[in-house]
Amino acid sequence: MDANFKCGFAAIVGKPNVGKSTLMNAILGEKLSIISPKPQTTRQNIKGIYSDDTRQIIFLDTPGFLQPRYELHEKMRSIIQDTLGNADVVLFVTDAPHFPTDYDKEFIEIIKHIRAPRIALLNKIDLVEDYTESMVLLGKSFDQVLPISAKTGTNMDKVLDLVSKYLPYSPPHYDPEDLSDQPMRFFAQEIIREKIMLNFKEEIPYASAVIITHFRELEDKVDIEATIWIERDSQKPILIGKNGSMIAKIRTAAEKDLEKMIGMKVFLHLFVKINKNWRKNKHALKELGFQ
Ligand code: GDP
Ligand code: MG
Repeated sequence: MDANFKCGFAAIVGKPNVGKSTLMNAILGEKLSIISPKPQTTRQNIKGIYSDDTRQIIFLDTPGFLQPRYELHEKMRSIIQDTLGNADVVLFVTDAPHFPTDYDKEFIEIIKHIRAPRIALLNKIDLVEDYTESMVLLGKSFDQVLPISAKTGTNMDKVLDLVSKYLPYSPPHYDPEDLSDQPMRFFAQEIIREKIMLNFKEEIPYASAVIITHFRELEDKVDIEATIWIERDSQKPILIGKNGSMIAKIRTAAEKDLEKMIGMKVFLHLFVKINKNWRKNKHALKELGFQ
């Protein structure tokens, strides 16, 4: 094994909707982490693995820090703390059109106490004319600052080079062919959730959770069963739609994405169930897979 090979963990943190998932997808060139215009889409860590001849970077895509209004949000905070504890470098993503929000300032204070080296990525520079001031401000709290656009791909190679500077010399942890250590059923869950996010306004996306109950890979097809948990009886007809039109739309769109990813025919069966206040109930959260 090459003694100059580097391998380590880079945690991506920042406010919801700044473009963390887009960044990871731009780097990996795969739709690993779901993206939608609504904040808080990402509820769990996703490890995306970038490998080339000289390095392997394992990215942790975290949900943002949030107000602990719901039990779920406290879960997210503890996930973030665990993630940062294991990282060799922390990437703080913020968006140029809105920087600095109060939230940004608070966030910067919180991560000042992290031991790992910190890189600030000023994202969405395609949307602003001048970002000099933001760069100066970020420069005061970070080891490195880089302007990027995850959407257009600007400076993605520089992100990789900056991160590599801080990685330890180590052989790769994962097979260089792997893009993620997440099982395919996890992606199925994420893709279904993305379709719910994209097809409904406020209420339904935040009231729902998706759990894969059955995932079977056969020779030429994959059979998947999933339950969509919602909070109230009144949400059921909305989610299902007139004559089942909405749920069919979600199913078809999810099947299409999954087929692209898996490279096989996918048969998806969706069930809708009610679990009142699943968000506030620790036991229910565990049952739903937020361990
Ligand atoms: P996350 O919550 O931080 O993971 O944010 P997402 O990656 O889900 O992105 C939120 C929204 O910002 C999506 O609509 C993205 O398309 C958009 N977005 C992300 N990066 C950029 C960028 O560099 N430029 C522009 N214009 N939009 C971006
Ligand atoms: Mg995200």
